Amino acid sequence: MSVPRFHDLTVARVSPEAAGSVAITFAVPDDLQESFSFQPGQFLTLRTTIDGQDVRRNYSICSTRSRYSQAKELEVGIRPMEGGVFSNWAATQLKAGDKLAVMPPDGRFTIKKPRALHRVGFAAGSGITPILSIIASTMEESDSAKFTLVYGNRRMSSVMFNEALQDLKDKYKNRLTLIHILSRQAQEVPMLEGRIDAAKVQQLIDTLLPARAWTRCSCAVPRP
Ligand SMILES: Cc1cc2nc3c(=O)[nH]c(=O)nc-3n(C[C@H](O)[C@H](O)[C@H](O)COP(=O)(O)OP(=O)(O)OC[C@H]3O[C@@H](n4cnc5c(N)ncnc54)[C@H](O)[C@@H]3O)c2cc1C
Repeated sequence: MSVPRFHDLTVARVSPEAAGSVAITFAVPDDLQESFSFQPGQFLTLRTTIDGQDVRRNYSICSTRSRYSQAKELEVGIRPMEGGVFSNWAATQLKAGDKLAVMPPDGRFTIKKPRALHRVGFAAGSGITPILSIIASTMEESDSAKFTLVYGNRRMSSVMFNEALQDLKDKYKNRLTLIHILSRQAQEVPMLEGRIDAAKVQQLIDTLLPARAWTRCSCAVPRP
């Protein structure tokens, strides 16, 4: 069995995100470009030593392939989990210039129908990260594709990558639909309140989603 191969990548930037989350950008050197090329939806395994323990965790790539080919950068978003070893270390200790052991992209949560006309993604909390890469890549790689995102959070102030989503909405006004479902903030429309469960998905499909026009792409489950 082959041993997983980690490479030291330099942290180019650490940017604050909502509710204590961080976006970590890695610079990928020329000789590793091919090893780190990815499909939107895949994840990286990050590895470090914390209090003498070898710790490895997976984080989905949230950036696009075009940014990878142009700027040679990969980005992940990390939301600190209460009592979590790696996520809190990354959110408070990592800084630009640090080196971190990173395994090349892996995972099968990727686009299965490359020419879908309309994709719909469901995400909650930090589950947005792989979907963000899939949305942006979908828009960049086709002039006509549409995407509808149903995104669950407690309240708007805790929406991870809200600015990135708004930028995408501004850029692709007629092709991207964002539907926020909030569990701890009142909305004008009751259907947009609560958690994304089976009943909510059915309600959304019946009222807001043009079922005949979309191809189910993925469902990102909330991370605990
Ligand atoms: C494919 C994949 C992609 C992912 N992508 C992302 C992403 O893009 N962004 C993101 O933020 N996360 C992502 N995750 C989750 C991420 O990998 C980590 O699991 C998460 O950050 C928590 O790691 P941690 O080391 O901080 O927490 P851990 O230390 O692993 O702890 C997790 C939880 O368990 C509790 N716990 C730990 N030990 C014990 C114990 N002995 N008894 C009781 N409770 C305990 C902790 O308090 C904490 O609440 C992804 C996971 C997978 C599998």
